[in-house]
Amino acid sequence: MDLYEHQGKELLARYGIVVGEGRVATTPAEARAAAQELGGGRLVVKAQVLVGGRGKAGGVKVADGVDDVEAKAAAILGLDIKGHVTRRVLVEKAVDIAKEYYLSIAFDRGAKAPLLMLSTMGGMDIEGVAVDHPEALARIHLDPAIGMRPFFVRRLLFAASVPREEHAGVGAVIESAYCCYQELDAMLVEINPLVVTGDGSIVAADAKVTVDDSSLYRHADIADMRDVAAADPQEQMARERHVTYVKLDGTIGILGNGAGLVMSTLDVVDQVGGSPANFLDVGGGADADKIVTALEVVLSDPKVEAIFFNIFGGITRCDEVARGILAALAAMPVPVPIVVRLDGTNDVEGRRLLADAAPPGLHVERTMLEAARKVVELATGA
Ligand code: GDP
Ligand code: MN
Repeated sequence: MDLYEHQGKELLARYGIVVGEGRVATTPAEARAAAQELGGGRLVVKAQVLVGGRGKAGGVKVADGVDDVEAKAAAILGLDIKGHVTRRVLVEKAVDIAKEYYLSIAFDRGAKAPLLMLSTMGGMDIEGVAVDHPEALARIHLDPAIGMRPFFVRRLLFAASVPREEHAGVGAVIESAYCCYQELDAMLVEINPLVVTGDGSIVAADAKVTVDDSSLYRHADIADMRDVAAADPQEQMARERHVTYVKLDGTIGILGNGAGLVMSTLDVVDQVGGSPANFLDVGGGADADKIVTALEVVLSDPKVEAIFFNIFGGITRCDEVARGILAALAAMPVPVPIVVRLDGTNDVEGRRLLADAAPPGLHVERTMLEAARKVVELATGA
């Protein structure tokens, strides 16, 4: 789960990292009140959206005084940043920026270890730094069994050529950020910029924290931070119903039993010229309720023109799946054609059940390739 900047900062602050003092506002009037509470003066107004690059998109503005904060908030609220509409802003006391550093801790799946990155060339374009000045981005993997140790922090500081007088301050932030990453089951803790102020103190001026969804059950306070209004409505519906669903851009709804099968179904549909609308794994078993739920989630996407239901029977028996599909179709209207491929345990029986019942709009195919061709034909009306 991705967190907003103000939520990420709240977590960093729990670990002793200094962040700007700020308030969240959802209207220009609230932003004005926030500015007043903060004592006016030089403030920043920052769009709270779950996407990076807000600065370049006009979502971060420095303001002078209460009136200006209200005006800047009016300009930022409603702003569309890479498809994310700004519904709240963070009003913060402006930080006196002398230098902008970059710090991140991310889980590196390839190395099976956390990767720490530190650079004195922080700010808005760290991807550019990684390409043009790779030597300026220190990268070190940490052995999770050993954890954070002082020598490790020093290695990172030297590798990034952080000036000696800042070692204590930046080093403390590295240690705290790692504690935060570790204890909160984060997948990412990124501070960009990590600011060195005019008087030499170290402040996190931005925060991007992603917490592992699978561990949210042990962080109820973080789970509560989810902004339901900003979530994709279909993905939200799927989450509530405990279905593994990922929305894609195409027109063909894909359901299958097993993540591997669904992934290869996406490939085969793509290969024969179709574009999948989603990834949906119904898992094992095949009772009608489960199939109704899965179909409802897929059909809630108005772009879906045809559905491909791909089943490989192993422990799950194809005749049971067929009965589940028939019961589901009897229980709910399905306005688009469905192509079913049944293969594996009891597939002959399963296909016979579907052929005998022959509900309108249902097509049964023997192989994955034939079924993919059929569903693409139905979706494109060819
Ligand atoms: P991002 O573009 O989404 O990463 O948003 P950031 O929060 O990193 O802000 C982008 C840029 O705005 C930073 O690199 C800073 O240069 C500037 N900025 C952010 N906060 C402050 C602040 O408190 N004071 C000043 N002067 N500039 C800020
Ligand atoms: Mn940033």
